[in-house]
Amino acid sequence: MPATQPDKHLWLAEQIFSAFPQDVSGLKFFTLDCGCIYFHRVFRDGLIDPTLSVYRDAKDGPCEMCMCLKEGWEGRLLDECVVYNSGFQMVDG
Ligand SMILES: [Zn+2]
Repeated sequence: MPATQPDKHLWLAEQIFSAFPQDVSGLKFFTLDCGCIYFHRVFRDGLIDPTLSVYRDAKDGPCEMCMCLKEGWEGRLLDECVVYNSGFQMVDG
């Protein structure tokens, strides 16, 4: 498991792209101050999945911040980035 945040985005993107190789062309990541990563999938036709998914390291356990403050997560946003399936290999190394 990569430790730094950009590495974690790429690692997570790789897992999702290999799970949905035909459908997902990109991912929009939102990093919160509690360490959770929220993301939307972007489909090949350009539509953004309205479902907000959450990734959190299993070793960190459930996130109390997100359980209590789920509605206001945008206010705790540290960083957002988009990773595209066609280009993410080029970022490596
Ligand atoms: Zn959280």
